[in-house]
Amino acid sequence: PHDTVDVVVVGSGGAGFSAAISATDNGAKVILIEKEPVIGGNAKLAAGGMNAAWTDQQKAKEIKDSPELMFKDTMKGGRDINDPALVEVLSSHSKGSVDWMTKMGADLTDVGMMGGASVKRAHRPTGGAGVGAHVVQVLYDNAVKRNIDLRMNTRGIEVLKDDSGKVKGILVKGMYKGYYWVKADAVILATGGFAKNNERVAKLDPSLKGFISTNQPGAVGDGLDVAENAGGALKDMEYIQAHPTLSVKGGVMVTEAVRGNGAILVNREGKRFVNEITTRDKASAAILAQTGKSAYLIFDDSVRKSLSKIDKYIGLGVAPSADSLVKLGKMEGIDGKALTETVARYNSLVSSGKDTDFERPNLPRALNEGNYYAIEVTPGVHHTMGGVMIDTKTEVMNAQKQVIPGLYGAGEVTGGVHGANRLGGNAISGIITFGRLAGEEAAKYSKKN
Ligand code: ADP
Repeated sequence: PHDTVDVVVVGSGGAGFSAAISATDNGAKVILIEKEPVIGGNAKLAAGGMNAAWTDQQKAKEIKDSPELMFKDTMKGGRDINDPALVEVLSSHSKGSVDWMTKMGADLTDVGMMGGASVKRAHRPTGGAGVGAHVVQVLYDNAVKRNIDLRMNTRGIEVLKDDSGKVKGILVKGMYKGYYWVKADAVILATGGFAKNNERVAKLDPSLKGFISTNQPGAVGDGLDVAENAGGALKDMEYIQAHPTLSVKGGVMVTEAVRGNGAILVNREGKRFVNEITTRDKASAAILAQTGKSAYLIFDDSVRKSLSKIDKYIGLGVAPSADSLVKLGKMEGIDGKALTETVARYNSLVSSGKDTDFERPNLPRALNEGNYYAIEVTPGVHHTMGGVMIDTKTEVMNAQKQVIPGLYGAGEVTGGVHGANRLGGNAISGIITFGRLAGEEAAKYSKKN
């Protein structure tokens, strides 16, 4: 048995939904398959924001930014091994992607600061609530509105090609239907990364063996095998990102925005040890170098009030509080006297406007209002930068950089956009921009074939 469409999209994260919607809007008949019983992949879990430059939302807040600056920050964050052509697509399309999402009903009016960014460019819903859940919900609603054929519990197994090497569809396995073909001119792989697969992770980067992961269970990388079996080349596979702040108590990822909005990081000795909003790889390494391989995010009620997400952490019980730093220290096993001195010192740096200790570039607020909070954090595997090689039209390429006709890739399954290290806020940005582009390109291609 088989079904015939123009485009099959594999994976229902942000990239997959964006691709399915844009392919549909460009006239293609689409099937979207998802191997798990739930939609949204890791995209749904993203908490930071959607990076975009020179948007109306930034203008309304008088934030000066440009695609050139976003390009520069992204290359620097990725240690310059990113594919510049892909980063150019990311930064120059970012405003268009925010507008596209807004037109579909998303609220991306809050703009926050994230690590490695020169200015505030992480777009998220009012109040700073989880951007990923919101974006996935809006995409899902729009897919439903378009009657897109979404098939859950359906795994993409093998891309099928004709004798000339053109894609002809994909072999899938439905939980109840078993194996069957979907015939199509184009297949878009949007299967995400493999951070949840510690065996695969540790093979590529032994220092991450046994690390916990923030990812959903489906993030094991079988989509990469599908791409490779179809002739796609993989690149930058050894670059695997640990998120610096996973809550030790609850295993939840504590968004970078907590630091961006003013929290500091201290060790058990009660001392700061790093520019809190440095890039993720540097922050992770710094935390692992502390006693007990963990550290504490310390903040007050003014930081709590600035970010609604923090109330969720408090609700989960991972952010104990006290009305003094000495008490908090006693509760958490931090040197309370040193902690008190550290916060006083930090507050004096905030008033002077310059962090002469660790060169933290933003000092949003002093920590002296209401209660104090501590979240114990340690790094966990969060994102895999490497993946299948694509060109600026999202066409999958083989090792000789020849395009595999009809095969496209978008999102975390691809390599090159984020280089050696992804900046917070660039995942949601990338999956929407490249997903949108893949849908458009695949629809155009299928019309010609
Ligand atoms: P991105 O952020 O790039 O959109 P996500 O992790 O959000 O990636 O989503 C990828 C989705 O693809 C997940 O929901 C995952 O379960 C799904 N997926 C992964 N491999 C396959 C496969 N072989 N067939 C179908 N779905 C897959």
